Amino acid sequence: MPAYSPRLTRLIEALRRLPGVGPKSAQRMAFHLLDRDRSGATQLARVLGEALDGIGRCPRCRMFQEDDACGYCTPAREAGGLLCVVESPADLLAIDATAGYRGRYFVLMGKLSPIDRIGPAELGLDVLTRELDSGAVQELIIALNPSVEGEATAYYLAELARVRGIAVSRIAQGVPMGGELESIDGGTISQALMGRRPA
Ligand code: ZN
Repeated sequence: MPAYSPRLTRLIEALRRLPGVGPKSAQRMAFHLLDRDRSGATQLARVLGEALDGIGRCPRCRMFQEDDACGYCTPAREAGGLLCVVESPADLLAIDATAGYRGRYFVLMGKLSPIDRIGPAELGLDVLTRELDSGAVQELIIALNPSVEGEATAYYLAELARVRGIAVSRIAQGVPMGGELESIDGGTISQALMGRRPA
């Protein structure tokens, strides 16, 4: 059976690890990097190495960070007692860009999904629980993208806060079912935040 050389096979297999990349796309990418854009491939390899070496996660909010001090976990942001739970770093940026919110965040990096084996541990909910137990959080704002898994996750998060006597609110208005916060305009996000309702 004909096969590509060992190195090419390994490259294609490695590219297939990326989300949404199937065998055909992985082949196309490998051919492109090797034939059309070898300097781009060199840069990709270097930047990827640098990213892996230099980027970590904030132990409190789980946002990606490069410096020791997280810019989203400052005393000024903590002072208001607001903690906004989002699915992804992109959603965090989308909300923070509206300037209508200057509290803290918690980045789940996904949502509960038993089929994909994503449970509370994978979303760092033990870390979130510590935050809620610290006494510094007065209101938990749930800003998840509308979806079936998002609803189940929101319910779970709301219970974590409720049993600790912490107020829970949700933003939903203006965010269409299946929509993503990161692709919605700032004005709509801002309105959704201001008009958040108790959950
Ligand atoms: Zn942080």
